[in-house]
Amino acid sequence: MVKTAVILAAGLGSRLGQKIKDKPKGFLVIDEMPIIEMSICKLIEAGIDKIIMGTGHLKEVYERLAVKYPQIKCVYNKQYQTTESMYTLYNLRDYISDDFILLESDLIYDKVALKILLHHSMPDVILAGELTHSSDEIFLETNKNHFLVNMSKKEEQLKNIDAELVGITKISYPTFKKMCTYAETVFDSNAKLDYERTLVGISKNVDIYVNKLKDFVWCEIDDENHLRRAIQEIYPMIKVRETVKPPIKRNILLNPGPATTTDRVKYAQVVPDICPREKEFGHVMQFVSTELTRLVADPKEYTTILLGGSGTAAIEAILSSVIDQAFILIINNGAYGRRMCQIAAVYGLNYIEYKSPIDNIIDLKALEAVIQDGYRIISHLAIVHNETTTGLLNDIESVGNLCRKHHIQLIVDAVSSFAAIPIDMRRMNISYLAASSNKNIQGMAGVSFVIAHKGKLESAKNVKPRNFYLHLYSQYKYFLETHQMRFTPPVQTLYALKQAIIETKQEGIKERYERYSRAWEVLMKGIARLGLTHLVNKYHHSKIITAIIEPHSMNYDFNEMHDYFYSKGVTIYPGKLEEMNTFRVANIGDITYKDIEYFVELLEQYLKGIGYIK
Ligand SMILES: *Cc1c(COP(=O)(O)O)cnc(C)c1O
Repeated sequence: MVKTAVILAAGLGSRLGQKIKDKPKGFLVIDEMPIIEMSICKLIEAGIDKIIMGTGHLKEVYERLAVKYPQIKCVYNKQYQTTESMYTLYNLRDYISDDFILLESDLIYDKVALKILLHHSMPDVILAGELTHSSDEIFLETNKNHFLVNMSKKEEQLKNIDAELVGITKISYPTFKKMCTYAETVFDSNAKLDYERTLVGISKNVDIYVNKLKDFVWCEIDDENHLRRAIQEIYPMIKVRETVKPPIKRNILLNPGPATTTDRVKYAQVVPDICPREKEFGHVMQFVSTELTRLVADPKEYTTILLGGSGTAAIEAILSSVIDQAFILIINNGAYGRRMCQIAAVYGLNYIEYKSPIDNIIDLKALEAVIQDGYRIISHLAIVHNETTTGLLNDIESVGNLCRKHHIQLIVDAVSSFAAIPIDMRRMNISYLAASSNKNIQGMAGVSFVIAHKGKLESAKNVKPRNFYLHLYSQYKYFLETHQMRFTPPVQTLYALKQAIIETKQEGIKERYERYSRAWEVLMKGIARLGLTHLVNKYHHSKIITAIIEPHSMNYDFNEMHDYFYSKGVTIYPGKLEEMNTFRVANIGDITYKDIEYFVELLEQYLKGIGYIK
């Protein structure tokens, strides 16, 4: 087994400027520890007992570290200012006598990387990840056997881009010798040779395996953007992954939220007790607020107001806080549209209910005619994006355009679409959007939030308050000034939400929607095969929740079917329409199409059991 590690630590780190003045890059501190020391601890834990560091710039700082860790041997590259990483590595040739793991000094990474390399059957292995788009990355080109062909920072220099270099590589002693021989032929003309170029240089004669990891977490820290990303996202993710916790029983929730969550999200709630008025918790909420905004808009122009409560709280906060004397037009094509009318009625708002079919698209001409009828001044229009009663997806972009034309502010209940269906608030002309922590964002229940256009929100401050707790502008203003919520927030739910946001960004919203859609396609095929139909046709379907028409059978009983599924770890949901006999299946949360295949199998068993099919 490999027992040696080599760390290249001679670089200048000039792009980090003031952040680390008199320290080398490896001494950036995250969570009270220099990143180089984190890396050293991981190496030692993985069984490495000899760490050779190639130093240069500020070598004394590394030498002090070597006092603390007797495993470290520092070797100074006197010419570090005029040479590159290969010269630093070459300079270690008298100290290297075995296979080794080569690392860059400015990396943070999930320690699983070391385990993979140390146990890999190939002698020479480059660790690679999926593309991060973090800027300054090195792209890898490989052949069909996954051996290195080329690498470059410039995409155009490669025929294919297969992966991204992580900066952790296993190099066998014979290969190291070849690298040195190759370097000697180049140094005369080019002292600025890096180890990456050297690997490419010898790759025609040596098979260097590129091991691409899916879902691997790491980052290099070259500039301030990298550093911010490292602190806010990558490091927390690594920490969560490295802490081994027993798996929690997995239930498949096919109700429309709370949805199935990852264990990482569940465990994110287990944190030391903290008073939510501490600055540290303010940072958590600040992150949550900004990143939620970023999923649908530019935080310069829009803001997210957090509230303790379920999704309805956010909707009620908007409706009660932003409408003055003029009318709000509310589109009702399902139970959630109707709920907005109920809220408007309770607050005594001037509202117009616009009824539209529950299973078909909105007639925009007829809607415009209502707007133009001239009797009443309409200041706002409210619409549900994905109507959870049926799965009907309303065309909010067209409605947004209509609102633009008539100078109406658009309010969208996006509780069951946010973080799954891509939304662009600016393009869609949305002034206020409501969502919650427990649906497609895949967090825990308890946080409700409003994403608002800052300018519109400012102008709503003059509306006479109709309530206290849910008053949107007060909550906004207070958070802006203090980074606290006015009243006790659901502390642990917010920690889970932070983790859920990180995972959402990692997956990507478009990609999440593709995962959901694939599960939905399996559901559609499955129920069709079993002779069942659903309410809304696929052209107007959200592909997130489906109202399935109940089977016509004397023996059918929703509660019995529910209990049957429940006993098998799957939760389904009753219908919500008086006039239609449906039950509902949501394909959201941390599930895949495989879970839906399992659901379809169980449904088949149930339908056979009641004699509906043979
Ligand atoms: C879930 C949901 C809500 C909010 O419901 P809560 O029970 O308050 O969380 C609002 N609108 C839609 C469309 C929903 O799907």
